[in-house]
Amino acid sequence: MAETITMGPDDALHVPAEPIIPFIEGDGIGVDIWPAAKLVLDAAAAKYGHRVAWKEVLAGQKAFDEVGSWLPDETVEAFRAHLIGIKGPLTTPIGGGIRSLNVALRQVLDLYVCLRPVRWFDGVPSPVRHPELVDMVIFRENTEDVYAGYEVEAGTPEARKLMTFLREEMGFPIRDGSGIGIKPISEMGSKRLIRAAIRYALDRGRKSVTLVHKGNIQKFTEGAFRAWGYDLVREEFAEVAVGWDDCDGKPGDKLLVKDTIADITLQQVLTRATDFDVIATTNLNGDYLSDALAAQVGGIGIAPGANINYVTGHGIFEATHGTAPKYAGQDKVNPGSLLLSGVLMYEHLGWTDAARDIVAALEATIAAKIVTYDFARQMDGATEVKCSEFAAAIVERL
Ligand code: NAP
Repeated sequence: MAETITMGPDDALHVPAEPIIPFIEGDGIGVDIWPAAKLVLDAAAAKYGHRVAWKEVLAGQKAFDEVGSWLPDETVEAFRAHLIGIKGPLTTPIGGGIRSLNVALRQVLDLYVCLRPVRWFDGVPSPVRHPELVDMVIFRENTEDVYAGYEVEAGTPEARKLMTFLREEMGFPIRDGSGIGIKPISEMGSKRLIRAAIRYALDRGRKSVTLVHKGNIQKFTEGAFRAWGYDLVREEFAEVAVGWDDCDGKPGDKLLVKDTIADITLQQVLTRATDFDVIATTNLNGDYLSDALAAQVGGIGIAPGANINYVTGHGIFEATHGTAPKYAGQDKVNPGSLLLSGVLMYEHLGWTDAARDIVAALEATIAAKIVTYDFARQMDGATEVKCSEFAAAIVERL
């Protein structure tokens, strides 16, 4: 019987045998990648006696065309009620009140962690010599920073008002004709993100958590993020984790929490990939870092993601690429990003056997050089298949 996932008394998800999981098919290539991903997800679940009761909910262009709203209340309510959901890419409305549907969903459900695991799959074409050294998990703060959207446009009465205050009350000599953005970073927001990263690292036996920040320049926002991270280790994790400064880089059998500056990080993930494991970072840094790392392992077409609130239990798992409108409906693109987001969702639900099998079958398919166009154009001797054929080939290898 189809049932709702709930949060147990022990702050753990209670997942029934047949959970109801809302999904948004997504705009553009959503019509291609969703059925492909679903085929594999259902087959893998069935192997272990699981079944998902998928419940379609609308958002984006499809919602606008069918019910006149980009993000209907029923969709938000379905995600709120059922805790866990999955989504394809959504068109960003041009003009209109919503800046981005993805950002709106994250804010409404306070999904404060953007989780992006980045690892290489054998055989995937990559621009670097040793993509196999990349095995990192990014925890990007999802609700603060310049993404909070507090901005005023140059030349407007609001900008002039704010500028007058900043000049007269704060002594900030802001230039005429400036637009101004506000970057809030809070202790609560930083600590809950870093707490989630540390718990994840401990649960999975990871060796370090690196706090990535720009604290040398932005001392009271990025620098504070770093300081609050180290405070948190001392306050809540002293038995099991230790900060770099408190152990001189020698953590013994504890989890090491260290930090690096954002700019050098973008260099070192290339030159010293094995120094990085779990990464906790602020919103904008995390945005840059997750795309740079995805490129390092070959790709936008297969990078998975999730937005999670570990306190309420809410999580939305999503393809990280856009709607690629020029390929929509052609049964051509790579369904890997949405499929691996589904894998991440299964891991989160505790369906680790099914998750592991999908990864193994995906690896076997790529190793057999059966791939979609995006990989085929970079591989010698590949057999290029359609999106749906790629999914069928994975199912064959489950
Ligand atoms: P995009 O849709 O991600 O597409 C850019 C390029 O990435 C594609 O032309 C294609 O490269 C490659 N690509 C994307 N998905 C792929 C897949 N599944 N398999 C293989 N290759 C893939 O970015 P965009 O064109 O900038 O954005 C289009 C729309 O999507 C916009 O409305 C944007 O706002 C929205 N968007 C939504 C999300 C989201 O919902 N999470 C994220 C980003 C953008 P080639 O041309 O080289 O083949």
